[in-house]
Amino acid sequence: MDSPDDQGITRFETLAVHEGRQVDPVSGAVTPAIQPSTTFERDADGGYSRGHVYSRQSNPNRQQLETCLAALEGGQSALAFASGSAATMSILQLLRPGDHVLITDDAYHGSRHLLDTLFRQWGLQHDRVDTTDTEAVAAAIRPDTRLLWIESPSNPLQGLSDLEALGALASEHEIITVCDNTLASPVGQNPLRHGMDLVLHSSTKYLGGHSDLLGGAVIHRDNFAQAQALRDIQSAGGAVPSAFDCWLLLRSLSTLSVRVRAQADSARTLMERLDEHPAVETVFHAMHPNHPHRARAKQYLRGGGALFAFTVRGKADDAMRLVAATRLFTRATSLGGVESLIEHRASIEGPGTRTPDTLVRLSIGLEHVEDLWADLQQALEHIRKD
Ligand SMILES: *Cc1c(COP(=O)(O)O)cnc(C)c1O
Repeated sequence: MDSPDDQGITRFETLAVHEGRQVDPVSGAVTPAIQPSTTFERDADGGYSRGHVYSRQSNPNRQQLETCLAALEGGQSALAFASGSAATMSILQLLRPGDHVLITDDAYHGSRHLLDTLFRQWGLQHDRVDTTDTEAVAAAIRPDTRLLWIESPSNPLQGLSDLEALGALASEHEIITVCDNTLASPVGQNPLRHGMDLVLHSSTKYLGGHSDLLGGAVIHRDNFAQAQALRDIQSAGGAVPSAFDCWLLLRSLSTLSVRVRAQADSARTLMERLDEHPAVETVFHAMHPNHPHRARAKQYLRGGGALFAFTVRGKADDAMRLVAATRLFTRATSLGGVESLIEHRASIEGPGTRTPDTLVRLSIGLEHVEDLWADLQQALEHIRKD
């Protein structure tokens, strides 16, 4: 969001600090209080003029968080969930048994896993499709297709789908579109501005940013027909975050823009150096000059986040040895936190993954870039040179 809206004060960084907050009228407190109450008092006439009934349905901290999340994605409304996966499940629960779903073939393995297991049993059908190829998506649409699940940039290969073309195609067929925007974060991309119906985030990643909270969010465009149905699933199913997690996430959103931009700057420096390194084969990042869809990167992304991957020249074993040799990078899954992480992705994703077994995935944190580079350089020495 680079330009002010009608009110003239709504650039991204300003919204991230102010949206959903107000100075407490009683105490003057500048930061919101945490409201742990599960239940709220009725008025004498039995109504709830103060807006809350029971915390599964709504809670002041969740309301503040949802207000801010909607503003950051330019959506009409946001729904916060207990995890990205709970948010994913809630979107899939909008569908009926027998409906057909198309999903990006290298989408987050957990999203594919849900379709392969719980929702297969529930009667949803799905096909994996290369959503970077709009023609392939058009060819895969069936009369019973109801949902197009796009992850762009995808993880870890960082494919970029043409959101506007896919949005137009889906609306011709009355198919709901979702873009999992976890990798770019709202700092890098706002899919609702490019014809998507829904945006999904695992708030566990950049939105939370400190590897200390689990959360998910769905933000919908104006006049999304199933908005109330989604709200009903959230409040009846109850996969909602605690008041404390909502408070902590709202606090983290204030620094989202500076964190992501600093992390992405370091990632760019490291990628430039890895490009020149003899042990490195290919670097994968949505904004990398080698990306097959440069024009899409320009059209959709202000930044591509600080998660990237590279393949090593060698075998799976070489990639494993590199990962084992880092000292500053922690060997752990996840991304978006202030601490840098490294992993051998294919062994996490397991059988059926398209991720090459020589691929190493890095999530760049907020450490000094020269310290990160020194660590990678010494770890790269562990790759066999023959
Ligand atoms: C982590 C992740 C998810 C799932 O989120 P959880 O908070 O772990 O349930 C979904 N999509 C992407 C791209 C992710 O990285």
